[in-house]
Amino acid sequence: MPSIQVDRDRCKGCELCNDACPQGILGMSKQINIKGYFYAEVIDPGRCIGCMLCAVMCPDLAIAVHGTAVQYRLYDYFQPEQR
Ligand code: SF4
Ligand code: SF4
Repeated sequence: MPSIQVDRDRCKGCELCNDACPQGILGMSKQINIKGYFYAEVIDPGRCIGCMLCAVMCPDLAIAVHGTAVQYRLYDYFQPEQR
């Protein structure tokens, strides 16, 4: 299973990762980091498919994705008529 690590003190609270996540499992903390921003956090890590879109999107390189295989089976990339 993939695992996500957010370096909260690198985060600037832009929420780009939240918008990028196809699983909608990222959110923002209720605490602030050392810079005074609400930082990104994983709300439901068990549903992560390891796509790395959050890490690629982050302008501050605050997210690392660890894991082996991307689990595309949990996400519909194609419309049913394209299968
Ligand atoms: S790796 Fe993909 S599914 Fe997992 S938190 Fe990041 S964007 Fe979401
Ligand atoms: S994209 Fe990066 S800087 Fe922006 S909220 Fe997410 S982790 Fe923080």
